[in-house]
Amino acid sequence: MPELPEVQTVVNDLNEKIKGDVVVDFWSEWSKAIKNKSLKNFQKEIVDRKVLGVRRTGKNIFIDLSGGKTLYIHLKMTGHLLVKRATLPASQAGRKVKSEEEKYFSDRVNQYIRHSWVLQDKKGETKKLDFSDVRKFAKIVLDDTDKINELKEIKALGIDALDLKFTFQKFQEILARKPKGLIGIILMDQSLVAGIGNIYRSEILFSAGILPERRIEKITLDERKKLYTSIGTILKKAVKLRGTSDSDYRDTSGAPGSFQKVLKVYRKDKQECQKCGTMIQRKTLGQRSVFFCPECQK
Ligand SMILES: [Zn+2]
Repeated sequence: MPELPEVQTVVNDLNEKIKGDVVVDFWSEWSKAIKNKSLKNFQKEIVDRKVLGVRRTGKNIFIDLSGGKTLYIHLKMTGHLLVKRATLPASQAGRKVKSEEEKYFSDRVNQYIRHSWVLQDKKGETKKLDFSDVRKFAKIVLDDTDKINELKEIKALGIDALDLKFTFQKFQEILARKPKGLIGIILMDQSLVAGIGNIYRSEILFSAGILPERRIEKITLDERKKLYTSIGTILKKAVKLRGTSDSDYRDTSGAPGSFQKVLKVYRKDKQECQKCGTMIQRKTLGQRSVFFCPECQK
């Protein structure tokens, strides 16, 4: 599932590629993804609206539109958004060699287009925002911005892991609420800190040298400081590398991220730890696999 770095990459891309564009049409073959209205009403309400900007909290994407509306998207397991020019420039027509972009778009994971927004930019050029989602778990909600903010699942979100207000002091306060909690579960709890999922909890805990099953109350002040620093360092590095594409995640050009090349423990079970040579282990924690080095992590 896309986590904070993947979603931030998508948000950055969308702000660069579709901000200021106007929605001229919408198509869907899977209207069940649209949560609060019929496909017909969704179409009617989104057409003619301008994209004012794109933002996120945790793993949730918000596309703010003119007229006080917001399009809320959760990518869930396999969803990803692709921005395509409707037509190739005339000079490129008839070429035999595919562009990098075309190669990426023809990749299997980018072929499951369930929804598509047709957009027009200031120059009158047409683009498409395609939503590929093989598993069809993604969620789309269009409503007034304040109503989106009031949604149960949005109100329940904790502070974003890269929010400037997420200070060490704030982190301490959050940990103090769950003294008996296991750190490997606490890190993934979106109601406490939003944005960290299965991939990054393993990487953050390895970086901090802390075992996933440590109880919060047993984690020392020095370890907490290290953990807090690791959250920022790992997530920022992953944003810089445009996320992890270990399965379906792709950016808006259809291209994979690069963080999978620098993973230290995630899905590395039965491989030697790069730091100490011990075998990396896997356990199930919070219904998902967690990966760790029993030597480097205490
Ligand atoms: Zn190790």
